[in-house]
Amino acid sequence: MIKVDCALVLRVEEFMESSLIITALSQRGGLIKLVAKGAQRLKSPLRMSFQLFSLSEFIFYYKTDRELNILKEGKILEVFDHLPENYNKFSLVSTISSYIIKSVPQEAGEDIYTDTVNFFRFVNKANTLNQDLYNFFVIRNLMRQGEIPYFNACGRCGNEPIEFFLPSKKIAVCKNCIKEGEDTGIAIDRGTTSEIKFVLEKNWQEINALSIRDKTREVFGVLLREQ
Ligand SMILES: [Zn+2]
Repeated sequence: MIKVDCALVLRVEEFMESSLIITALSQRGGLIKLVAKGAQRLKSPLRMSFQLFSLSEFIFYYKTDRELNILKEGKILEVFDHLPENYNKFSLVSTISSYIIKSVPQEAGEDIYTDTVNFFRFVNKANTLNQDLYNFFVIRNLMRQGEIPYFNACGRCGNEPIEFFLPSKKIAVCKNCIKEGEDTGIAIDRGTTSEIKFVLEKNWQEINALSIRDKTREVFGVLLREQ
């Protein structure tokens, strides 16, 4: 079966004598691996069909039982040319790419594709980068995938306001739901919940301008610990 999909190239590795393996986040098919046969050869038509950290349209032979798909042809749609030439940008998108390859489920939906393309587009143009951008990206992704709860209501009774974050359970609760003798964890307030909501809902340019308080950073630190 032949498939056509747009994909953001996250990693390119040498394969055998003259080929390359492309790992990319595709719009409709989640993470995909494509073998670009002979792409290390100067005259290969596949050479110009993709680039690391750029967006391409790929046409490839697809089989459900195969991990590697064979690239037939491709066309670069959008190049983020500042990413390879600026160390901080390169380093950030490399870390994000490794995170996606390691943690995003194979059948990831279009949301994560769109959000990641927007993120790369933003970083490419940005003049300054927030130190917390990687953490923001991961938190946002985990919340959207339902792996960590939204901080909009108590994780035990569903009421508001939430007042404590329990690190051992990774949930936020209201004051009525603290059990007898239970450690109250980190006291949080509306400021923290607003900052978390901000990271979840705003665009990357707005998020980049956000300076979070120490308390929020502490909560993020716990949420990101085993990631
Ligand atoms: Zn409660």
